[in-house]
Amino acid sequence: MTKTETAKFKLILDTKQAELARVLRNREAIAIEKSADALDEVQHAAERELAIRNLDRESGLLRQVKGALMRIEEGTFGVCNHCEDDINPRRLNAVPWAQYCIHCQELADRRADADYDSDNVFEEVSLAA
Ligand SMILES: [Zn+2]
Repeated sequence: MTKTETAKFKLILDTKQAELARVLRNREAIAIEKSADALDEVQHAAERELAIRNLDRESGLLRQVKGALMRIEEGTFGVCNHCEDDINPRRLNAVPWAQYCIHCQELADRRADADYDSDNVFEEVSLAA
């Protein structure tokens, strides 16, 4: 990957990181906000539940974005974390924080379905072995 390409992805990832950090601050506010009104509280509980679900998803994404920025620093960005092949540029354009090539991602997704922590499916597998 050229310096120009890396700089482009760094910009995209920096922007995404700032956006997610902002969204997460708002969600946290919703998640902890409490209503005095009992009727309101029912409605609010549903909103809060949704906010917490989104919070989970977005903090997971933020972790991935931060990981990608770290890989840019280390010079390993664009390389699959598992098989060390280059990640397809088309995939990186669509998902700049992708840490696996498409094949390893599919494997990771399948393992995630089987209840592995999706952030470190491969590590869990080696630990279990
Ligand atoms: Zn791979």
